[in-house]
Amino acid sequence: MCRVRVALVGLISIHFAAICSAITERIPVEQPIEIPLSHEFAWKDSKSVANQSFLNAESSAAKASDFYQIFTGDTQYYFPCTPENDECAKLCNEQSKECVIKQARYSNKVQRQSIGSLIKQLAAVGHKPRSIIINGDLTDYGHPEELNAFKVQWEQPIDGVRMFPGLGNHDIQNNIEDCAMNHCGNRMMRYFISYLGKELNIRADYRQTNDFLFAEYQGSFAYSWNECSSTNSSQCVHFVQLNNHPTYERSFEFPIAKWIINSTLEWLSDDLAANVDHPVVINFHRYDEDFPQPDRLAFRDVISNQGSHILAIVFAHFHSSIGVKDNWCINGRNVPLMFSGSVPGNNYLLIRFADDYRSLANVYSLHATGSNQTIVTRLNIATSCS
Ligand SMILES: [Zn+2]
Ligand SMILES: [Zn+2]
Repeated sequence: MCRVRVALVGLISIHFAAICSAITERIPVEQPIEIPLSHEFAWKDSKSVANQSFLNAESSAAKASDFYQIFTGDTQYYFPCTPENDECAKLCNEQSKECVIKQARYSNKVQRQSIGSLIKQLAAVGHKPRSIIINGDLTDYGHPEELNAFKVQWEQPIDGVRMFPGLGNHDIQNNIEDCAMNHCGNRMMRYFISYLGKELNIRADYRQTNDFLFAEYQGSFAYSWNECSSTNSSQCVHFVQLNNHPTYERSFEFPIAKWIINSTLEWLSDDLAANVDHPVVINFHRYDEDFPQPDRLAFRDVISNQGSHILAIVFAHFHSSIGVKDNWCINGRNVPLMFSGSVPGNNYLLIRFADDYRSLANVYSLHATGSNQTIVTRLNIATSCS
């Protein structure tokens, strides 16, 4: 009986969502961004690379077994660009919704065009990147028009290169109990599990129980996958996505669903134990005070105790930040904790996994300028530590 009542509330809330959509109809419909064929990737410090262009240098250095991976974050429809992202910031400066939408569209366009062109240019020299990892804050609030804009621009593979999403605080934290009937959080969770299943053939860590029209979903919602050498299929890098942060926990109810998000640590421990043969890159969204020191120590314990070989930890959230934030010494090896960059800052990371994939020597931070040019910086990543 109670479930029937809940289902009726669900129908009312669906009607409410339709009204919300009508209100937001004045936002012009998002059109897919064209990827330009030409785009310049220029070294920030050209003297340090003997006058070789970035693409030339990479195409001569990369071996057949090497592979590239792209990392970014915070597509965050609709959010303003960072103040230091010059060309985006000077588009408009008033505190209006129109200005925010304009900047968010511009920064997403610039990022998508730079990443798309990089994929095409690396593919042309036989090194098409494997995937684009987006480390959370896909939307600003999980509203329908925001999610729709994200889907239009980022779901479509570029030359077959697919997007692997994570969820951030703007998708599944800030909007909980602060959005009509939790539509926003429910929308983002449903989208996430459905995209993973349909587009990537991945099931995140959760179980679902149904009672008439009501469904309960519980788990860490973390997931992982391997990218392997094209010359040796047993040589791989294991990628992990933990969403907001490793110990984030929250439960919330939507009229016809309940979501229980658990800490990822238990799942992570099992996942690492099952993948000890491959070095690992761990992704999540925020590495800040919301992920407190005791929780960081618990996380560090998990990634230190499995005989695992952690290569890097990558996150987003701080829109102006890119590159190494910190270094942890784990089992005698340096593990960099790195910002993936963000769309509002028009920054992203490119990593070439080389040789036996057991160390990181080729990590690049890229800044898309908005003038059909992207500035590339090679990052120095320490490998040993004590
Ligand atoms: Zn965030
Ligand atoms: Zn963000």
